[in-house]
Amino acid sequence: PLMLPGKNVINLGALAAFIALTVWYVNDSQLWLLIVVTILALGLGWHLVASIGGGDMPVVVSMLNSYSGWAAAAAGFLLNNDLLIITGALVGSSGAYLSYIMCKAMNRSFISVIAGGFGIAAPAAADAEYGEHREITAQATAEMLANASSVVITPGYGMAVAQAQYPVAELAHQLREKGVNVRFGIHPVAGRLPGHMNVLLAEAKVPYDIVLEMDEINDDLGDTSVVLVIGANDTVNPSAAEDPGSPIAGMPVLRVWEAENVIVFKRSMAAGYAGVQNPLFYRDNSQMLFGDAKTRVEDILKAF
Ligand code: NDP
Repeated sequence: PLMLPGKNVINLGALAAFIALTVWYVNDSQLWLLIVVTILALGLGWHLVASIGGGDMPVVVSMLNSYSGWAAAAAGFLLNNDLLIITGALVGSSGAYLSYIMCKAMNRSFISVIAGGFGIAAPAAADAEYGEHREITAQATAEMLANASSVVITPGYGMAVAQAQYPVAELAHQLREKGVNVRFGIHPVAGRLPGHMNVLLAEAKVPYDIVLEMDEINDDLGDTSVVLVIGANDTVNPSAAEDPGSPIAGMPVLRVWEAENVIVFKRSMAAGYAGVQNPLFYRDNSQMLFGDAKTRVEDILKAF
């Protein structure tokens, strides 16, 4: 987030000037007033959005969607156009509702986010030293899975990028045939829109009864033999739960680190959407399986 000193005063000042100039323009329609109001609105909009970073960004994207709806509805009132009022109100209210759901899922205050990330601190730039990560091969993963009694798969945005849902569904199917208890744990904001993972898994015909929400699966993760983190990062980040200084602190996450073994499928040690490093990758019970998620899952299927 951009952290200008006194940013709330800047926002409130700009809002007050905006209202005053608008009233002036309504009483005395001079073009220069309209231009100043437009520039002020652009500046305020830019500043409100630039002040938001990390895990709050998706909420802002959906808030902007909502604002565009309210702007259309306002234009509808001005132009006396009922259709514009109705469609604008639909877009505005659905966007606002979506933002509210996301805020709840990420344990954020709705008002703080729309007021420009009030109270969030910029992350400390220092890269904490987490130690060494361990790597595993697809062959060794296949052996571990074949000997597991329970497996939980937590997919994220990387599964969508790799289009890995079909081999993942096949993997779940083959493991279930071997008698392994396989379930999926879905974080409410995994991927890039709410329900993203559910849609992909439904497309690949994964049975609904093994696709569980975060709250339904979290307490079982401690008794799970292997968790496969397929292209997820922020949604399984222990610092959200354990480090109050983290930019994603307070966001509920899948507690995959409690499982006996965790295997993380990703292409590098790069950070996720929120741009924060993930200490999960360096835990003693975690191993990295590098490469494109689809290719790696297919390698496991071949090893079977
Ligand atoms: P993240 O975006 O945190 O991480 C995705 C990971 O997938 C990356 O670390 C990346 O690592 C890996 N990846 C990318 N491509 C591939 C590939 N082809 N094969 C294997 N791995 C790959 O994912 P999450 O789903 O855990 O979290 C979602 C994030 O998006 C949250 O921060 C959430 O707030 C945000 N968000 C959510 C929205 C929603 O409503 N669901 C909307 C907008 C944002 P690497 O590059 O090393 O491969």
